[in-house]
Amino acid sequence: METGSINKVVILGGGTAGWMAAALLRRALPENIAITLVESDQIGTVGVGEATIPPIRQLNQVLGIDEAEFLRETKGTAKLGIMFDGWRVQGESYMHAFGPVGKNFPFCEFHHYWARAQAEGYVSDYWDYSLNYQAAIAGKFLPLNSVTKTNLPGVSYAYHFDAGLYANLLRRHAETKGVLRVEGKVGDVRKAAHNDFVASLKLEDGREIFGDLFVDCSGFSGLLIGKSLGVKYSSWNKWLPCDRAIAVPSGGVAPVPPYTRSIAHDAGWQWQIPLQHRTGNGLVYSSAYWDADQALSVLMKNLPGEPLSEPKNISFQTGCREKQWQGNVVSIGLSSGFLEPLESTSIHLIQTGVTRLINFFPHHKICDQEIAEFNRLSRLELEAVRDFIILHYKVNERTDSKFWRDCANMDIPESLRNKIELFRVSGKMPNEPGSLFSESAWLQVMIGQGVHPGDYHPSADNMTSKQLRAFLQGMKSLICSSVESMPSHERFFS
Ligand code: FAD
Repeated sequence: METGSINKVVILGGGTAGWMAAALLRRALPENIAITLVESDQIGTVGVGEATIPPIRQLNQVLGIDEAEFLRETKGTAKLGIMFDGWRVQGESYMHAFGPVGKNFPFCEFHHYWARAQAEGYVSDYWDYSLNYQAAIAGKFLPLNSVTKTNLPGVSYAYHFDAGLYANLLRRHAETKGVLRVEGKVGDVRKAAHNDFVASLKLEDGREIFGDLFVDCSGFSGLLIGKSLGVKYSSWNKWLPCDRAIAVPSGGVAPVPPYTRSIAHDAGWQWQIPLQHRTGNGLVYSSAYWDADQALSVLMKNLPGEPLSEPKNISFQTGCREKQWQGNVVSIGLSSGFLEPLESTSIHLIQTGVTRLINFFPHHKICDQEIAEFNRLSRLELEAVRDFIILHYKVNERTDSKFWRDCANMDIPESLRNKIELFRVSGKMPNEPGSLFSESAWLQVMIGQGVHPGDYHPSADNMTSKQLRAFLQGMKSLICSSVESMPSHERFFS
């Protein structure tokens, strides 16, 4: 592949992906590489994407964004996990709380001790040992590094924020550091004469933006990677059946819960994302089971407050581009793939996508080996997240609607089937190298969805029954008193 060095990066799109890419690339690349971002006010952004996972805090730190300023500017709140209502059976809830549950020993994870105690008749709730969960349901929050006066792991948190306000904050940040913003609608994409590289973006008003490397953050349209370069999209619809969403904000609630809510309905699920000033709501559903009117009526009946605007309909297809990088175009954000918002992973995948681009940023020329490795790692990451999301649908025990029965009966990727069976038989839940979701996240969803460990690790026999009970009781009471001394969640942002 023949190209010269990269002197100018052009980012197409000014949504969360575009501005995150602009801010991070500007932070990482030398000043002699110019960065231009093109966005169209007329097209606008997807306007959703308000719940995150803990690594977002590292992004803000790397960009030098102060937490207090961030919370103020984005109307942000803390997120300790996601409460899943009615996912296993109707009327029951569990949480995927961030951070570890209990405390792992060097050769034996905590859940093996918990499983042994269960087997011996000392039945306790797995979440009794989660500081995040206990704080979340008490409406408390404090960014603790460890449980008060112990070496037990502390609070792990992310944020809820207003997506538009966050994009504005990133934009200000990126522009101050030298990113050039061009407002205008791209009408045509010009290719180089001698290869299949993109040479320039032609705006509808006649301006032409030239670049050496293009970052496609154009959202679902995938204007460069898909429409211009023809990179195909693999659909994962057979495993992730939802393909529509309706979003509508409603008034704020008090007290503001420090967690996202995901409420299962007959053919999909509803999100509630509490911000300081309003609640972000939406319904994700499958168009094979519900039409838009049915979905809208379910959403509007279940809003936690008065709607603040007209509902917005969004169509999507879960899946990903067969390649995230082709030629001189790297796709980031919705243009590169979408895994539905159940575990709030898209913004994180933008963060890792841009970080990967920085790691593989071409020096003298774009080379095939860098592209191939970038694409391989992107695919592995997406597939691991995909399996985790499928798990929520697959291991449900709902018999009340066809949607849930079909999900329970569907075929799943072999990688996931093996993981479920391993846990069901042996209680083992190894951490996948480089995987986004830790064993603690997988365990909570497995147990919450009704898959229980069939055995425990022999090392968990290294204490007597009496010691084991004392160990569990002691941990539970330390967590309880730590939560009791925490302030309310509101104190964090007010
Ligand atoms: P967009 O926001 O669509 O931005 C595309 C940009 O490209 C815009 O600026 C647009 O103007 C520009 N553009 C497009 N075409 C042209 C053109 N021809 N000329 C010029 N400019 C152009 N993620 C999470 O992490 N957490 C969540 O809770 C979450 N919830 C979601 C809920 C739903 C229903 C959906 C659909 C997504 C959700 N996501 C969530 C994903 C999240 O919204 C996106 O990952 C994020 O907003 C990034 O979008 P984007 O920047 O790729 O695309």
